[in-house]
Amino acid sequence: MVELTVLGSFGPYAPANGACSGYLLEIDGFTIMLDCGHGAFSKLQKYTDYTKLGLLVITHLHPDHYSDIYCLRQALKYAMREGKRTEPLYVYLPEGPSNLVEEIEQWTDVFTVINLQEAWQAENDFNLFKLSFFPVKHSISTYGVKLSVGEKTLLVYTADTGWDNKLVEECKEAEYILAECSLKEFELAERGENHLSAGQAGVLAHSCGAKNLILTHFFPAYQQAQLQRQAEVAFDGKIYLAATGKKYLLG
Ligand SMILES: [Zn+2]
Repeated sequence: MVELTVLGSFGPYAPANGACSGYLLEIDGFTIMLDCGHGAFSKLQKYTDYTKLGLLVITHLHPDHYSDIYCLRQALKYAMREGKRTEPLYVYLPEGPSNLVEEIEQWTDVFTVINLQEAWQAENDFNLFKLSFFPVKHSISTYGVKLSVGEKTLLVYTADTGWDNKLVEECKEAEYILAECSLKEFELAERGENHLSAGQAGVLAHSCGAKNLILTHFFPAYQQAQLQRQAEVAFDGKIYLAATGKKYLLG
């Protein structure tokens, strides 16, 4: 069983009681956290025992995707002191900004850092599943994430990205696409280098032959129902709006 639970779906800040980017993947009992933005670690504790976390993947080092790593570090330190965990957590990180990477790499008591720049060239085969990573277009080094089981691509997470035709290839025939939709269409001219609109997320899902599209990374002030309608223009598959606690059975 492969299940996705949304921990947080906002960026670049969260509204009251909300959380920024964070997703929990459970694959036959093995747990992976994708991104760890503001509030995501707090929400994680509602759905799983963090001391048993198998992997953490940080797509990029913007606060709405990684800032709760500081809290996770403290919690893991405590768990190790109490004997609730013995091994450091594997953390996939992009190669920069170097000051942030170096800071996190120092915490060897709780984290073992794996460089995404190296991982994206490699087969990350965990027997039960395979993870792959691909660079996307953003203002700092950022990677999308693909989860496959057998020959099936169950999930592609775009992270934060501007439109890039390569995305269509990476998302090809995915069961689910978890796509950011930070921008309204009118913002694309100015900020489209770094983020997608909901309309573009719909075009992506349609072009790659995905079955399901989960919209995420919502700017808190925007109407989500309106974003969904924009995505529906191009995509006639199932469209969901990510929200804390929502679960999706991927396979
Ligand atoms: Zn973001």
